[in-house]
Amino acid sequence: MKKIYLKRGKEESLQRFHPWVFSGAISHFDQEPEEGEVVAVYTNNQEFIATGHYQIGSIMVRVLSFQQEPINQAFYEKRLATALDVRRSIGVADNPTNNTYRLVHGEGDNLPGLVIDIYGKTAVMQAHSVGMHVDRTIIAEALKQVMGNTIENIFYKSETTLPFKADLGQENGFLLGGSTEDIAIENGLKFHVDWLKGQKTGFFVDQRENRRLLEHYANGRKVLNMFCYTGGFSFYAMRGGAQLVHSVDSSQKAIDLTEANVALNFPNDTRHKAFAEDAFKFLDNMTTPYDLIILDPPAFAKHKDALRNALKGYSRLNQKALEKIQPGGILFTFSCSQVVTKDNFRTAVFTAAAQARRNVRILHQLHQPADHPINIFHPEGEYLKGLVLYVE
Ligand code: SAH
Repeated sequence: MKKIYLKRGKEESLQRFHPWVFSGAISHFDQEPEEGEVVAVYTNNQEFIATGHYQIGSIMVRVLSFQQEPINQAFYEKRLATALDVRRSIGVADNPTNNTYRLVHGEGDNLPGLVIDIYGKTAVMQAHSVGMHVDRTIIAEALKQVMGNTIENIFYKSETTLPFKADLGQENGFLLGGSTEDIAIENGLKFHVDWLKGQKTGFFVDQRENRRLLEHYANGRKVLNMFCYTGGFSFYAMRGGAQLVHSVDSSQKAIDLTEANVALNFPNDTRHKAFAEDAFKFLDNMTTPYDLIILDPPAFAKHKDALRNALKGYSRLNQKALEKIQPGGILFTFSCSQVVTKDNFRTAVFTAAAQARRNVRILHQLHQPADHPINIFHPEGEYLKGLVLYVE
């Protein structure tokens, strides 16, 4: 294994088990590694400190282990078995009314750069680092061992998540099986998963618990689901007894998926309508007196530099909804930008409430579900936050 030596004093974050080594911390190599290769990290005093995947970029090593151990199929089996045990403890795995969950959440499962979502008998695997791409075949083998006959297909979907510059020529495709069965179940509700072309791994599994909470607020209400994507919040609202549900997304494809998913659960139900429109324009022009609104936009800030503008965007969006929502209305509002902290987001919504001159109470503070765990040594893993507001 090739060795990377750190500059003096740069081992501190690794001593606190933070799983990243930044390029600025590196002094030299004993031999230049290939991108994606497993390397051993040493302090300036020649002491071993970690093993991880090497990659060119600002994060140069993603730590897989703080022990001197080989990174092979047995290593991945051990990590995946722990991940599965966590999902069993949460109650999302081996559950007849729910076959959709995240099995591996990168750093949260001590596997930086790897995401695996389970949809029934299909696992969708996504590499966010070159190292995980290089190791994809042994990871798929390990996954087969750990999951046994509970999965029949492994779809690898990393075309858009790997660094473009690494020029890996990767393609999406099945590493195991090749099923066309595409219906999965979340909390007893069915939905199609488009693992070939859908965003992320095909469905936003991170809103499961928040959708379930929404269901309890929906009875008798007029619901507006903004940025609906595949309509997750919409079909929960319908099961909750909403009077009407309107879904909005700027993408026509998302609207088609939403309509298909609503029809799958509630065929010929006239309570639902979907609109392919820009959210900001829709809010400006709407006349329906909604009393339950969901705002779940895409990440407004992908980098720290974009934070100020992102916060303005969240304020503007929430202000529009707060101005229009009926008295006694409920607003579910989210941010999935990792660089926007819980406090940042709350301040943005506070500004929106002040500008809309509405009396607002916070009923719930929401976050990512337990199958998207946060490694305590890697607080950057906390990304999803939401508020449920009562608007007087
Ligand atoms: N709430 C969804 C996930 C939302 S993802 C769920 O539960 O699954 C964000 C969505 O916002 C994407 O589908 C994207 O097409 C849509 N979007 C992005 N910009 C938009 C805009 N300006 N107006 C409306 N929709 C937009």
